[in-house]
Amino acid sequence: MGKKIYLSSPTMYGEEQQFIKEAFDTNWIAPLGANVDGFEKELGKYIGVSHVAALSAGTAALHMAVKLLGIKSGDIVLCSDLTFSATVNPVAYENGTMVFIDSEKDTWNMSPEALRRAIKKYPQAKAVVMVNLYGTPAKMDEILEICNEYNLPLLEDAAESLGATYKGKQTGRFGKYGAFSFNGNKIITTSGGGALVSEDKEAIKKVRFWSTQSREPARHYQHKELGYNYRMSNVVAGIGRGQLLHLDEHIALKKAIYETYKKAFSDIPEITMNPFDEKNSSPNFWLSCMLIDEKCKVKPLDVMVALENENIECRPIWKPMHMQPVFEGCDYITADDSGLSASEDIFKRGLCLPSDVKNTKEDMDRIITIVRSLFGK
Ligand SMILES: *Cc1c(COP(=O)(O)O)cnc(C)c1O
Repeated sequence: MGKKIYLSSPTMYGEEQQFIKEAFDTNWIAPLGANVDGFEKELGKYIGVSHVAALSAGTAALHMAVKLLGIKSGDIVLCSDLTFSATVNPVAYENGTMVFIDSEKDTWNMSPEALRRAIKKYPQAKAVVMVNLYGTPAKMDEILEICNEYNLPLLEDAAESLGATYKGKQTGRFGKYGAFSFNGNKIITTSGGGALVSEDKEAIKKVRFWSTQSREPARHYQHKELGYNYRMSNVVAGIGRGQLLHLDEHIALKKAIYETYKKAFSDIPEITMNPFDEKNSSPNFWLSCMLIDEKCKVKPLDVMVALENENIECRPIWKPMHMQPVFEGCDYITADDSGLSASEDIFKRGLCLPSDVKNTKEDMDRIITIVRSLFGK
């Protein structure tokens, strides 16, 4: 059996250890310290955002944002349907009511038409939570126009899209708040971690307070608000500082992987790659995904099994939230009354291909040969 090929695994350099060593040498292991401050500054500079709170996970960042939005029991929140459950879980933590919004075919992200229909049905909605799936920016102009028209705050889940831009502006900066993840398989990783970003200084200050147990500035342990232990540690932040130095390199490598697949499958009409707005957006190409024509005899499962049999990791598209048993009973809004669900269609016809930045030319050839042979090439 050939060497194992990963979907998207951590890629470390030497710099991470330098930053960690500094933390050890100064015995500034936890919590907070110079690496946390440095990571927040350097991340903020990269994204072009004024305020950053480094946290223990992307999910923690989303949870803090949901708290900032003031979501309370029964409040309606309009959420992306096709995403990882972590996008919407924090709304449920605060007992909000999720309404799932279908995707559109052009970027696989929240459909502006479906969003508009959802607001007509739920004019009392409190906020919109949307994701940039697999590193591809959503239709930001259209979504923001609707949010502004109805005065709805936007929370942008940019966990998968660090470094991606839309009309030259970094994702994560379009909403009132933006959330990032540095989980093990993301484009850069701190082993586990996240960040919340915003132009609102007071909001980020509040998040730092909540995420360190809401301790009031008194000598005794005084708490007026519920606290959380969500802050990033100084060791973990050191890994992040080292990884940030390689983010642009990772984006270039991921882009090359996407283009290699696209070229290799260009003579197979049944295969298309995950689409993006080539004129206005520049994805980070976190994961390369393929979509198989409905009428084709080859199904995503066939491709996944064939690759797995050769020690090659791949995975299905995120299963839409409206199909998840845990969210049974939540409403789901499509772009029109046809009953067709774009997110369900993408889930059924798509899969994620190995997109590890360490993939060699030989690795790519191995993957491509297996996939092509399934399609009789
Ligand atoms: C990874 C991910 C998250 C969660 O990040 P964690 O750091 O694992 O908590 C949230 N949303 C999306 C879309 C993700 O892919």
